[in-house]
Amino acid sequence: MNPYFCVMPFFGAELSSNSNKITPCCLLKNNSNIDEIRQKMLDHQQPVECSVCWNLEQKNIKSDRQYKNEAFDFYLNKDIKSIEEDCKKGLYSEQIIKIYTSNLCNSTCVTCDSYSSSAWSSLKGIKEKKSIISISALAQLDYSNIKMLSFVGGEPLYEKINFDILNYLIKAGNTNCFISIVTNGSVKLNPDQLNILKKFQNLNICLSIDGIGKRFEYIRYPLKWDLLLKNIELFKSLNINLSVSYTISNLNLLYYSETIDWFNKQNLPYNHNIVKYPLHFSINSLPKEFKSLLSIEAKHLLRKHLPQDDAQFVFFVKELGLQDNLKNISIKDYMPEMYDLIQKNI
Ligand code: SF4
Repeated sequence: MNPYFCVMPFFGAELSSNSNKITPCCLLKNNSNIDEIRQKMLDHQQPVECSVCWNLEQKNIKSDRQYKNEAFDFYLNKDIKSIEEDCKKGLYSEQIIKIYTSNLCNSTCVTCDSYSSSAWSSLKGIKEKKSIISISALAQLDYSNIKMLSFVGGEPLYEKINFDILNYLIKAGNTNCFISIVTNGSVKLNPDQLNILKKFQNLNICLSIDGIGKRFEYIRYPLKWDLLLKNIELFKSLNINLSVSYTISNLNLLYYSETIDWFNKQNLPYNHNIVKYPLHFSINSLPKEFKSLLSIEAKHLLRKHLPQDDAQFVFFVKELGLQDNLKNISIKDYMPEMYDLIQKNI
């Protein structure tokens, strides 16, 4: 098997509300030459532009490349070798679609900003426009041919246009399409919306959970853990497949093992979404002494300590202070262990 083949440069298309630009994969560096990446993959070479995936695979952590290859192979009902052969013959088209419909959101997550979340704009009192995907970009899609469609936000379940898009798929008779909705799991859906979701046989709700209990509430303020738990029960009762997108930053790395334990206990498959930017939220931006207190599993995610990590930790602490002031909360009440370590290390 070709260890460098990925379906995304061939079948992927990601539409963004901010630019309406189409890129095959958001993990690729900006201005990547897609034709070159495709050719390298077909020549069994490792494109440097895909470093996000190679770094994870090197650590024996499943990458997006592996997830996407597996899923596409499954939904196309074709093995990956045959898919690769088709690509060599130029037989590929946009069938794995990801849509950032808008930045409408109900949360002010610590690692997010007003550009990506309307709730952050409101909190900061900024009159930033809600950015919405262009209708012409949506009209270009061939709804009958899509095999996998993912919605990301903002908060996709909060954005009504996403339910319109699901209705386009229903009209095109494509309810077999694999649907993935990346959500904070904190929206109360109405009966009509639930009826639309129920029409899709291959629906996956991917919950953004980066900590449990109070940790979740701090990272994704002002969301409530109890509502998330209720929605998890509701989705389970509707036989909807659930998974977790686990965003890991320097803020929650301390709680890595307890969070993974909880996912395992809940039988929730999860991926690792490791924060690299902004740098002050990178998992590496912690003092050396602090890192020595992390669990073995959490340490495994870190690279070698660099002097810039200490400098970025200072920015991190300042940023948390600013955010706590704006939200009128204190990390001490949500993540007391983290608070104590911050106090000892500043
Ligand atoms: S970054 Fe990963 S998922 Fe994206 S095209 Fe490269 S290998 Fe595929």
